[in-house]
Amino acid sequence: MGVFGILWDELIGFFGINAWIEMFKSGDYNALLTYNGFLSAIGPLIPLLLTIEIIRALVFGKFRKKDYRIIFFIYVFNRFVSQFISIAAVAFCIGLFARYAVIKTSFSLYWLIYGYIVWELAHFVYHYLAHKVRLFWCLHSTHHAPEHMNLSVTHAHFFLEAPYADVIRTSICILLGVNPPLLFFIMFIDGTWGAFIHSGENLLKDGRLGFLNKIILTPSHHRVHHAKNPLYMDTNFCNLLNIWDKVFGTFQPEKNEFPPEYGITREMNTNSFLDVYFGEITALWKDVRKAPGIKNKILYTIMPPGWSHTGDHKTARLVRNNFLSETKTGN
Ligand SMILES: [Zn+2]
Ligand SMILES: [Zn+2]
Repeated sequence: MGVFGILWDELIGFFGINAWIEMFKSGDYNALLTYNGFLSAIGPLIPLLLTIEIIRALVFGKFRKKDYRIIFFIYVFNRFVSQFISIAAVAFCIGLFARYAVIKTSFSLYWLIYGYIVWELAHFVYHYLAHKVRLFWCLHSTHHAPEHMNLSVTHAHFFLEAPYADVIRTSICILLGVNPPLLFFIMFIDGTWGAFIHSGENLLKDGRLGFLNKIILTPSHHRVHHAKNPLYMDTNFCNLLNIWDKVFGTFQPEKNEFPPEYGITREMNTNSFLDVYFGEITALWKDVRKAPGIKNKILYTIMPPGWSHTGDHKTARLVRNNFLSETKTGN
């Protein structure tokens, strides 16, 4: 064995990846359901996760000044905790659902295409619910708070959002037969593209990427998703392949006459961390408290943002439909 072979063995041994490789080879993920098996698969990933988070933070320039040291550690810690809960949740869902998979797939180009279409469906389900169920919107709204688009928006997330997203996406993918190595590969592509589509106008003036705009989801489509213009509200939920937006009628291209206005419709203080992070939770709490009867209180948490027990709804669907019918009649 050459030097690189030995180094590689050391590396995967150090990070405990061999336990995962053995599991991939056997296709038996039941170990993830026992406490000891789960810990031995997940535990050694900690140094790997921490290294990745530190490298990411350095790449994104969070470590430039000494003054930022505390923020840097908070940033790394938050990302690390969120990633760790996420990976633990993913591992648990694999252990739980792998045996119920409707088909068996392998790591090949053919299955990659199938896997990606399934992944996009799972992403659509998670993202659609994040916008249409008020409780989930409380977790997702932090990502929609920024009023400018740039790559750092990729990192604007409530720390519990990734675990919740990954539970939904992993469960659907595993049940529909996407095998774990394929799933992790797709997650890697998705994460990379998912960051890139947050390129702002400073970096990429026209986000349409030429002819690609007709084939895949581009930064232009995701700018539309982040916009609060009535025409753009609650559209473009996909990430790389926008087939499901086209199937479910939520596809909306960018129109030159309506430049995206980023942010959310509620009055908010975008300079306040508390408002960006907890503002929607506070607003939901206020509505639940004043709602008459237990039924209305529950409805506030599960109905779309803008739903009101008085019948005076201001949901994104209504705002968009009103806009579309007004522009159609020429008003
Ligand atoms: Zn969204
Ligand atoms: Zn986004």
